[in-house]
Amino acid sequence: MLPEGCGHAPMSLFDHPEFDQHESVLFGFDADSGLRALIAVHSTRLGPSLGGCRMVPYPDDDAALTDVLRLSRGMSYKAALAGLPQGGGKSVIIGDPRAHKSDTLMRAMGRLVERAAGRYIVAEDSGISVADVVRMAEETRHVAGVPVPDSPIDGDPSPATARGVWMALRAAWQRLHGRDETGGELHGVGVAVQGCGKVGARLVQYLVDAGARVWICDAHAPTADACAAATGAEIVAPEAIYDVPADIFAPCALGAVLNAGTIPRLHARLVVGAANNQLATAEDDDRLRAAGVTYAPDYVVNAGGIIDIHYQRQPRYDPDAMQAHLARVPEVLLRILDAAAAEARGPAAVADAMARDLIAAAPGH
Ligand code: NAD
Repeated sequence: MLPEGCGHAPMSLFDHPEFDQHESVLFGFDADSGLRALIAVHSTRLGPSLGGCRMVPYPDDDAALTDVLRLSRGMSYKAALAGLPQGGGKSVIIGDPRAHKSDTLMRAMGRLVERAAGRYIVAEDSGISVADVVRMAEETRHVAGVPVPDSPIDGDPSPATARGVWMALRAAWQRLHGRDETGGELHGVGVAVQGCGKVGARLVQYLVDAGARVWICDAHAPTADACAAATGAEIVAPEAIYDVPADIFAPCALGAVLNAGTIPRLHARLVVGAANNQLATAEDDDRLRAAGVTYAPDYVVNAGGIIDIHYQRQPRYDPDAMQAHLARVPEVLLRILDAAAAEARGPAAVADAMARDLIAAAPGH
């Protein structure tokens, strides 16, 4: 248990259901700025941990702890399967980004990142923009996903993420239905894209260009309108996205959208999307399999962003090397889907096991 006064509700750490042998969890408090934040480092066996910082008004401290632990483990697995010399970590700031964000707060977060001494490298995530990370960079050099002066790098990993998801989606569809020599296998195929933000909108464009029939939704109506105007995709209400007669479902908004309530509603036989933590529970991996739905594990197909960030951090950005690395995303996915079919297991369980093996085999730092 943490000492009293550390949070609103007593939290247990070492026996927390999501603890999973994290290397360290740093609790940060700064009275001047009001910072309350956590940095979780799951593993640095493959290299320094890298992961975004989220700012969310969590209902209590345990919700923040649960989120950061789950996300940092996911980053370890993502980096391992993407073949990056990188570990997994994540951070969260407890607070409402619309109401509580300030330059002072971001600099205080930068100082907390600095205290992790390079074992954690921070980037943007929900509620935290590139500009916020630039502010943190005033206090620490352990930042990623920021513009590099005098270079074409603007720090945004979304184009690479979207391209990786697109290539994974096409490869998985070809695996299920055969390759069309004309490359037109997605022509007329129905795809439901949930969320058309930075990644979703780009995915919609790839799909429309390939001749797919695309339904979209977004909780923010103007975002859906802009995507529909740019691509001709058909807008449906957010809650209706599970019910459209799509062949493929592409979650590109939130986590936990694949659950006991939504899975029976899906018409799709394939799920491939960018959102993190799509399965509400581990059982939903088996629930999808039992329903005859092929699930492409989220952190496998959305690895394009951290692959791009890895290349952004090299002394010289090499776009060809980045694209070649990105092309391995669909290869890894197909290996996982083959193993899942051969072993009659859910693809998420297979991906987790493969990632754990890779991490365990690393010599460590
Ligand atoms: P974004 O914030 O630009 O877009 C998300 C969109 O989803 C927003 O337009 C939002 O209004 C919408 N949305 C929220 N709740 C919704 C709901 N209930 N129904 C429909 N739409 C809803 O984020 P993004 O960068 O496009 O990322 C999308 C997802 O992919 C997130 O889960 C993110 O964590 C994950 N991801 C992103 C990257 C990246 O490079 N951007 C990398 C890996 C994973």
